[in-house]
Amino acid sequence: MRKCPMCERGELVKAEDIIFNIDSYIFILKGERCSKCNEEFPYGEETQKTIEVARKLGVWPEPLKLHRSLSKSGGGLILRIPMDIERQMKLKENTPIEITKVGNKIVIEPEY
Ligand SMILES: [Zn+2]
Repeated sequence: MRKCPMCERGELVKAEDIIFNIDSYIFILKGERCSKCNEEFPYGEETQKTIEVARKLGVWPEPLKLHRSLSKSGGGLILRIPMDIERQMKLKENTPIEITKVGNKIVIEPEY
């Protein structure tokens, strides 16, 4: 069994009742759930299907996917946050964020 990438303690157990609530529409997805922290990891193709349906319904929060390149400054790489996400999530300069690596994805979470 796979270890949970979030807490690194629990194991991922199959789940068929992962609930996605998008704008009052409820989607039920298949995926895996951590036995310790209960973090849910819907399967990639499930997420994709849900996004397609949500888009058809017009409830998928814009913009879905943005393409950006990293730039270099000093020794490090810089990622520019798109303006609409900045506004939507009320991000400010110096907002502390948490960066988590989940597989080959990077999740950026503001810590308000
Ligand atoms: Zn966990």
